[in-house]
Amino acid sequence: MLRSFCAGLLLLLTALPARAEWQLHEQAIMGTRCAVELWEPDAVRARLLAQQVFAEMQRIDRLMSTYKPESELSQLNARAALAPVQVSQELFDLIAAALEYARLSDGAFDITYASVGYLYDYRQHQRPDAAARAAALPGVNFRHVELDPVNRTIHYTRSGTRIDLGGIAKGYVVDRAIEVLRASGVTRAMVNAGGDTRIMGDRFGKSWVVGIRDPNDAGRAALRVPLSDAAISTSGDYERYFDEGGVRYHHILDPRTGDSARSLRSATVIGSTATRTDVLSTTVFVMGAERGLAMINRLGDVDAIVVTPEGKVLYSDGLQPP
Ligand code: ADP
Ligand code: MG
Repeated sequence: MLRSFCAGLLLLLTALPARAEWQLHEQAIMGTRCAVELWEPDAVRARLLAQQVFAEMQRIDRLMSTYKPESELSQLNARAALAPVQVSQELFDLIAAALEYARLSDGAFDITYASVGYLYDYRQHQRPDAAARAAALPGVNFRHVELDPVNRTIHYTRSGTRIDLGGIAKGYVVDRAIEVLRASGVTRAMVNAGGDTRIMGDRFGKSWVVGIRDPNDAGRAALRVPLSDAAISTSGDYERYFDEGGVRYHHILDPRTGDSARSLRSATVIGSTATRTDVLSTTVFVMGAERGLAMINRLGDVDAIVVTPEGKVLYSDGLQPP
C-alpha cells in the first residue's frame, strides 16, 4: 500500500517540468527580437497572455512604422506639410510626448531627425554626402511640427520635414505590453523589445538581473544591473551601423549635424517607464557624458550609465559603481 502510494507520488513529481512557472515566449516584431517572460503556472494561459502581448506590439507597429507605407505615421509624413492632418488620439499623444522631450533636451532628442535620417540605409551601407546632408538639415527641427489638440491635427510648417518614432516607440510598446499583462492579473513579468526592457514585480524576493552588453562584444555583458519594478533602456552604436574609412555610421543622429553622434559608445537609462528610459537613453547618447549625465541628475527620477569611446564607464549620482 505504502509502496504503491510512493510510486504514484514519484510519477506525479516527474510529470511536472522543473520551474515551469516562469514562461518565456519570443517573437520577431519591429525588426527586433521581442520577449515576454512571466510567472504563470498554467502554460496554456501563459501562451495566451504572450499572444495578447505580441498582438498589441504588432498593432502599434502597424500604426507607427515608417517602413510600412500604409501606417498612420507614413500617411502623416506624406501629407502633413500640405495641410493639417487629423490623427488618432494614440499617435497624437505619443508625438506630443516626443516633442516634450525635444524641448527638455534642447533638441538633442528630435523626431524630425528623420528629415535627414531617411537618407541613410545601414543595411545597404548608404549615407548622404555632405551636400545632401546640408540640403536636408533645415527640415530637422521639432518646432516645425505644430499640434492642434482641439482638432487633433498635426501640421508640418516646412516641406521636407518628416518624423520617425524609432526613438520612443519601442519603449511605448513595452509599457503597453506591461499594461496588457497587468490588466490580466499578472504580477511578475519581464518584457523586452530590443534595447528596451521593463520589469513588473520581482523574482520572489530576488531581483531580476539585466545585462548591459560590452559595446565591443555582443556575447559579453559589461555590467549586470539588479532590478525589480523598473524599466531599463540602452542605446548603442552597435545596433544598426556600417563602418567606412575607419568611421562608424550608425542609427542615432545628432540633429544639429545630421551625422551619427559619436561622443559615446552606449548610454543606459533606468527609470520607472520604458517610454521614458527609451527616449532618455537616445537623448543621453546624443548629448554625451557631461551634458547627458547632468540632465539625468537634474531630472532626479532616473539614473544612467554611459560607456565612453575609451571604454570608461560613468554613472549618474543615484548609482553606486560596482
Ligand atoms: P534602438 O532602436 O536600437 O533600441 P534607440 O532606443 O537608441 O535604439 O533608438 C534609436 C532610434 O531612434 C533610431 O533608430 C532612430 O529611429 C531614432 N533616432 C535617431 N536619432 C534620433 C534623435 N536624435 N532623436 C530622436 N530619435 C532619434
Ligand atoms: Mg532609446
